[in-house]
Amino acid sequence: MAKQWTRRQVLAQMGIAAAAVHTLDPHELCCAVPASAETADKDLFELRKVADGVYAAVAAARYKVNSNAAVIVTDDGVVVVDSHSKPSAARALYTEIQGITKKPVRKIVNTHFHWDHWQGNEVYKAANPGLEIVASQRTQENLTRADAGVGGVPYIEKQLGALPGEIDKLKDDARRATDPTTKARIEANLEQAEAYLSELKQLRPTLPTRTVSTTVTLREQGREIQLHLLGRGHTDGDLYVYLPKEKVVATGDALIDWMPFLNDGYPEEWVQTLSALEKLDFTHIIPGHGEVVPKAHLTFFRGYLTDLIAAVKKAAGEGATLEEMQKKVGDQLAPRYEQGMSKYPLGRYRDRIGLNVEMVYRKVVKKA
Ligand SMILES: [Zn+2]
Ligand SMILES: [Zn+2]
Repeated sequence: MAKQWTRRQVLAQMGIAAAAVHTLDPHELCCAVPASAETADKDLFELRKVADGVYAAVAAARYKVNSNAAVIVTDDGVVVVDSHSKPSAARALYTEIQGITKKPVRKIVNTHFHWDHWQGNEVYKAANPGLEIVASQRTQENLTRADAGVGGVPYIEKQLGALPGEIDKLKDDARRATDPTTKARIEANLEQAEAYLSELKQLRPTLPTRTVSTTVTLREQGREIQLHLLGRGHTDGDLYVYLPKEKVVATGDALIDWMPFLNDGYPEEWVQTLSALEKLDFTHIIPGHGEVVPKAHLTFFRGYLTDLIAAVKKAAGEGATLEEMQKKVGDQLAPRYEQGMSKYPLGRYRDRIGLNVEMVYRKVVKKA
């Protein structure tokens, strides 16, 4: 049985004080959702067949967000792309996978280092000690870097520090809520937050065992799986999982059916990276969040990033303050993007436009 590291052992190895208490700035929260957001209590995800032996596990809207996963069945095992945000969710998917095939999960691919894409790794490792976990070299580094952003081992400590305060606020919001529907929703979210906290305390960080720094082809039994590194975008280590025969690509959060999260991203390079992705021949995208989408979604998503950057640059050039920019750009891009970027209860246009404008202003205009 392979040794499983506890969170504190990993932190100790990294020389990070496990006791450090950290309050999370809302900017650090990739997937912060309003207290009364409409989230699901029960079903964690729905499994959709995308091609023969290829499935998308499309995550339900949860208060503590889960990423989608891609499930690729080969002749002698299973490859899973991304592992949700917590072991219980990964376990639920693992059980579902076993309903499709009794073959072992041999490989996990982590598309990037964000918390909601790798914190379930331990479940697959426990089921198969020989499991290979593949990520880009940069993602591997980010997973243990203290200042990497919203993911990795140090970020677990940050979440543990911040969650009690978040839970207190939800309790307070629930007490204040007058409308019974809102109250019930906040209480359901409170329950999810409390369950997440207790899971996070037990989490055993399970890190990649194999890294790639250029595009590689995995010749799994009966299946060709290409791992593409196309440049910086959502993070500096994004990996795209491409099945050339089935014409399917799993993109992590570099391409999602929500508003993008830019805090750890590179907006201008992201546009170029998506253009590099576009050159691959595929028909279906399994995005990091939201439903499976056709290739045309790439054009829409990239168009949003391009227009956002142009609008922020223009408004900044005209001397607008950040607050003015957030309002102006938000209204200006709404006719083209609000509807298409607000399909789900989470990650909607109005939830994120202000922060997106701020990030482009900081990263592109101010080059912070
Ligand atoms: Zn995500
Ligand atoms: Zn992400």
